[in-house]
Amino acid sequence: MADKEFFGHIIDNEEVESLNGERFDVFNPWTREVWAEAAEGSAEDARRAVVSARKAFDDGPWPKMGRTERANWIHKLADKMEEKVDELAGYDAKNMSKPFEQAKHDVARSVWNFRFFADHQRDHCGEVYPMDSGHHCYSEFGPAGVVAAISPWNFPLMMASWKIAPAIAWGNTCIIKPSEDTPASVTHLGRLAAEVGFPPGVLNVLNGHGAPAGSSLTADWDVDRVTFTGSSQTGKMVMKSAADHLAPVSLELGGKGANVVFADADLDNAVYWAVESIFRNAGQICLAGSRLFVEDKIYDEFMKRFVAKAEELKIGDPLVAGTRFSALSSRKHFEKVAGYVHQIEELGGKIWTGGVADDGSWLVKPTIADGLALDAAPYCEEIFGPVCIVNKFSTEAEAVHMANDTRYGLNAMIFTENLSRAHRVASALKAGTVWVNCFFIRDLRTPFGGVGDSGVGREGGNFSREFFTEPKAVVMQI
Ligand code: NAD
Repeated sequence: MADKEFFGHIIDNEEVESLNGERFDVFNPWTREVWAEAAEGSAEDARRAVVSARKAFDDGPWPKMGRTERANWIHKLADKMEEKVDELAGYDAKNMSKPFEQAKHDVARSVWNFRFFADHQRDHCGEVYPMDSGHHCYSEFGPAGVVAAISPWNFPLMMASWKIAPAIAWGNTCIIKPSEDTPASVTHLGRLAAEVGFPPGVLNVLNGHGAPAGSSLTADWDVDRVTFTGSSQTGKMVMKSAADHLAPVSLELGGKGANVVFADADLDNAVYWAVESIFRNAGQICLAGSRLFVEDKIYDEFMKRFVAKAEELKIGDPLVAGTRFSALSSRKHFEKVAGYVHQIEELGGKIWTGGVADDGSWLVKPTIADGLALDAAPYCEEIFGPVCIVNKFSTEAEAVHMANDTRYGLNAMIFTENLSRAHRVASALKAGTVWVNCFFIRDLRTPFGGVGDSGVGREGGNFSREFFTEPKAVVMQI
């Protein structure tokens, strides 16, 4: 095998080893080979990254810079990302077995995240209120300080960009810790920021595991905001750790999305999105439509078409053109998902298609099952893989009740051609985002986040502004 690539920490615009020289292996889940190594961040490395970000915030030009100038810097980074789209997408494809075309789409969305927040901070500076008392009152949104951002492996670059972009756009400095499973694209992003000439310390990348790298960041008293995307279980630990130094947290956590298909839906559209919402990215999407509810009148027809479309997905090497579905992101994750699939039949469920590949690969095929009790683990718990559990309903009230009967509340989908029902059900669903006759479409001005175990707080547009700044009121006697 050719020499392995290395992904260090990016601190003060330099790519460095850990202070103790430790590294960890980075796998290609399709070949199951180690293709790279990354620096294993220790508590001392985390501190080093925080000190750099603190200094860049306290003494550097970034927070004091004019808003247009800062926007221009961020657009420069976005331009560079566009230039390097194949490299960035290639890293995500190789690092987590994401089909290359999907990875390119993720890079485009990451670029848009940077461009959107660059402009948003320039154009949404605050409000002014001339008061009846003759006073003049205005709000100011100054940067909060040092932001610790922690991201998961399922959209390595895109999830990180969703945090870094608003953090730095609003004048903060940032340390991003990517998942230990996918250090490549985010480290490369840090290299690109240095290459375009960002001031040192504005964007630091800390590689390593949740503990000690991530946990040292969240516990650091020099960190002013913690933005985290990952599992609900880790989110609770992050919140406890940040509470110690009263750093506000934004938590984007797990999901068990409900996808509700009414008999009056456009069936071709509903089937298309049912497949996309649970099998894109091999189901490793917090927003996945993992619980599908289909009205009884169309159940048999829907299942026939759904199974047929799922079986058409081209499975293979993520780097080969045309691949739509590939291996799970790591051995550990494969074992978790396979464990749930094995439970389905043990618990009396029926698998219509899919199952665990038995060739030693980390592949779970697109799996569709029904017949599980409403308290069965594969139905209730987040599997985070290509496993769709289907149920029938006969009334709108029943569908809403089943969809809402979960501790999660990140998102839901409704498929219907009845306009009144679409509005009525969207309003009744317990979810941060509801898609009607579509999936995965975002307007970055609107709130994004979850209810219950799916998260705390919202990000997007002014919601990100509120989190990443210290809003201030100035009242002036005229
Ligand atoms: P995870 O919680 O295991 O890890 C997420 C990140 O947290 C990683 O970078 C990890 O190293 C770090 N981490 C782990 N322990 C930590 C600790 N004690 N302190 C600080 N950081 C720590 O999650 P994952 O397996 O990487 O990602 C999958 C989960 O993410 C799923 O539950 C999925 O639903 C969720 N997710 C949510 C959203 C959303 O927007 N709500 C988006 C993507 C993924």
